[in-house]
Amino acid sequence: MKTNRFYILLVTLMVCTSSVFVACSNDDDDNASSKELGDKAVAELQTRLIDEDGAIVFGEPNDNGFYEIGLESQNDAQKLVTQYAKGYAGTATYTYTLPDTRGTVRVDKGEEVGVFYNVKFDVKGIPQMKLQVSDINYMDGENIIKAITSYKCNNCGSQFKLPNMAAKICPSCGSSNVVKQ
Ligand SMILES: [Zn+2]
Repeated sequence: MKTNRFYILLVTLMVCTSSVFVACSNDDDDNASSKELGDKAVAELQTRLIDEDGAIVFGEPNDNGFYEIGLESQNDAQKLVTQYAKGYAGTATYTYTLPDTRGTVRVDKGEEVGVFYNVKFDVKGIPQMKLQVSDINYMDGENIIKAITSYKCNNCGSQFKLPNMAAKICPSCGSSNVVKQ
């Protein structure tokens, strides 16, 4: 009887010890990988949003404080937004939380005519900014207040419009291999 209880105690101790050990090693792995995931997620966004000189690739913000980009279709716009906000699937609002508490990217479907999306970046390592993803045709209309240029990316095939003063960088893949159209 005594032996049995000792044995049970011993087994219980062993199980506890091993779960503590497993929990500890898992935590270590999670910490390492979530930092790496955070670094990677921020670096990806930086590639797409910031040029070599540290400037926002979309040029200057408009009067409402939004940076602007023009795309051909709702479908293109959603594809672009999904590059910024991982897991976005077309809902009216969505918030992507970066790994390792690096911040958030919030997506709101546009309510004005010609505006596909408003995207708010609140990410460590990137200037806090708002991006309006608009219909290219709308940007060509009377509401346009600054000159914009059409580009095509030779790397991923994206077509987009940016203010003339913006960096010539593909907002989808970050490639500078873009040509005027
Ligand atoms: Zn591209």
